Amino acid sequence: MDFGIRGRWALVCASSKGLGYGCARALAGEGVNLVINARSVDVLEQAAERLRAEAGVEVRAVACDITTEDGRAQALAAAPQIDILVNNAGGPPPGDFRNFTRDDWIKAIDANMLTPIELIKATLDGMLERKFGRVVNITSSAVKAPIEILGLSNGARAGLTGFIAGIGRKTAAHNVTMNNLLPGVFDTDRLRATISTMAKNSGIEFEEALKRRVSSVPAGRLGTPEEFGQACAYLCSMQASYVTGQNFLIDGGAYPGTF
Ligand code: NAP
Repeated sequence: MDFGIRGRWALVCASSKGLGYGCARALAGEGVNLVINARSVDVLEQAAERLRAEAGVEVRAVACDITTEDGRAQALAAAPQIDILVNNAGGPPPGDFRNFTRDDWIKAIDANMLTPIELIKATLDGMLERKFGRVVNITSSAVKAPIEILGLSNGARAGLTGFIAGIGRKTAAHNVTMNNLLPGVFDTDRLRATISTMAKNSGIEFEEALKRRVSSVPAGRLGTPEEFGQACAYLCSMQASYVTGQNFLIDGGAYPGTF
């Protein structure tokens, strides 16, 4: 199926690896030119090179912290226009809420709520004028089923989700849609690091900790960044023009509810 987005420009934030890279790769596969972003230059440049070689699209790599004003300005300036915005950043650390300081909360809200909102603010009017725009926010299954130790993530991402629910309806008449993708457990460096910590804390091998983590997933495995990216590409497609303000859980069936 042709998604009808060849030649468009996308800014995919936090995308040198993991879920962001999965989204960048799937969009490149649809002929979308990219601005990709991460803080570490080497990994980012290697990712850009792979994407250029694989898909033959234009890829501009901007090494910066997307949660800062200066970083966002650099990323935004790298593309001639932004038709597709994929919001992503590292997730906040786990912990007992009693130990979270005001500064911890501000950092989490900055990264996982206010950064996406600032990027939407900077790109939305151009999308509305051109009568095409797609915003996809990478949030978390924790928005639907909160994870107790991830209080910072539950809180900040729920704030973004509420904002998108409102604005995503306001733009739809201009063919500008906004949706959230909610990952369950995906095979990325971040997840492997979390499982390593769990293994160490429980005095078990990594493979055993992985097996325990996956045991609650009906699909019986971790998701892949490729399949996550393909869902993102669909939400950015012409075919998805009638889909907005939604929260798509991709979790191998882990969420047990009917809705
Ligand atoms: P990952 O494999 O660690 O990749 C994170 C990517 O984001 C890297 O390219 C990293 O590069 C970049 N990055 C992080 N902070 C950044 C910043 N401030 N500015 C620019 N780039 C930044 O992580 P992931 O598993 O793909 O997770 C992506 C998001 O999905 C996170 O918010 C995570 O909490 C959420 N999530 C993931 C899962 C899962 O199962 N994997 C589940 C639920 C939610 P640099 O470090 O070089 O900047």
